[in-house]
Amino acid sequence: MSKKDLKFVGAHCSASGGVFNAVKNAQDIGAKAFALFTKNQRRWDAKELDAKTIDKFLKALDDSGILSKHILPHDSYLINLGHPDEQKLIKSRMAFIDELERCEQLGLDRLNFHPGSHLKEIGEDECLSKISESINIALDKTKGVKAVIENTAGQGSNLGYKFEHLAQIIDKVEDKSRVGICIDTCHLFVSGYDIRTRQAYDKTCQEFENIVGFNYLMGMHLNDSKPPLGSKKDRHHSLGEGEIGLDAFRFLMNDDRVNDIPLILETIDEKIWKDEIELLYSFVD
Ligand SMILES: [Zn+2]
Ligand SMILES: [Zn+2]
Repeated sequence: MSKKDLKFVGAHCSASGGVFNAVKNAQDIGAKAFALFTKNQRRWDAKELDAKTIDKFLKALDDSGILSKHILPHDSYLINLGHPDEQKLIKSRMAFIDELERCEQLGLDRLNFHPGSHLKEIGEDECLSKISESINIALDKTKGVKAVIENTAGQGSNLGYKFEHLAQIIDKVEDKSRVGICIDTCHLFVSGYDIRTRQAYDKTCQEFENIVGFNYLMGMHLNDSKPPLGSKKDRHHSLGEGEIGLDAFRFLMNDDRVNDIPLILETIDEKIWKDEIELLYSFVD
């Protein structure tokens, strides 16, 4: 087996017209992994997945050879699992449970989400505790699917921009076998973690290992960044076009700690995703 076979690179593919279309869109760009929304990410309500849609998805997946562990569905942008308002928190928790159930129905084993925001109404610790509690409630009401927390850029009042935040959330999750982390390279960089040189990359990885642990890493978003290091602004860029540059992705593609997990592009020009995937594979020594 070549070392390239241990990396599973893809992109966040459109599921417009039905979740099964995401599989085809992934295949069209030569992806071995993909991300998708299982419902409209900007709406609270969604039509239930019907048996026909589920069958079509499973059939398409089977034909594609892509494994469910290499698919990283993303939840709705509206959900805030640390919401300071009780009623709105309940609404978010119900929507999150629905998202987990949809993954379960599609045979998917992980759901990627942004931890939550305190909206300047409660403190960071209180918000992080609410997020852990939300995860506990959701895991209790569902089966099999893991809750995969994404690190954030730290824009506005979004939490999850420090490894300590991620560790603090995991610490209060009861079933640690069903919680994971997704690291977004753009978010990582703008939140202050440098990965541009070998030394910086190793230092950041060591910090992640010490504070959270690579055993929790269940996916990554590979994005370059328009804003500079530590700017806390969330603006993705195409690989090599932004402030991070290509070396970081070269280190990553040769890092055994990111084997066998979905590595997902969320870069801004989907017309070059196929080229970006090829480029990433060309980095494997
Ligand atoms: Zn992301
Ligand atoms: Zn982002």
